[in-house]
Amino acid sequence: MESIIENRKMEAYVEHKTKEMHVCFLCGGIFYKKPGKVIGNRWICIDCLKSLKEALDGLDQWEAELAIEKEFNERYERALKGAHD
Ligand SMILES: [Zn+2]
Repeated sequence: MESIIENRKMEAYVEHKTKEMHVCFLCGGIFYKKPGKVIGNRWICIDCLKSLKEALDGLDQWEAELAIEKEFNERYERALKGAHD
């Protein structure tokens, strides 16, 4: 009998915890309300959020690098065409 009561308590506790529980949509990690954030209707954990922020912080530089590469390729192609004319 006592074990049934204990089981019920446990179920109630788990249910309560499950409501506060969230799954990070990036890493699939489980975390509780506080160390995460909602983006749209999805939860993201603090670790993924940090990585994402770092990625976004580096985005300008990345874009600049891509632009330089594009410019270089265009010049290179033009130079090749020039050589064949
Ligand atoms: Zn995560």
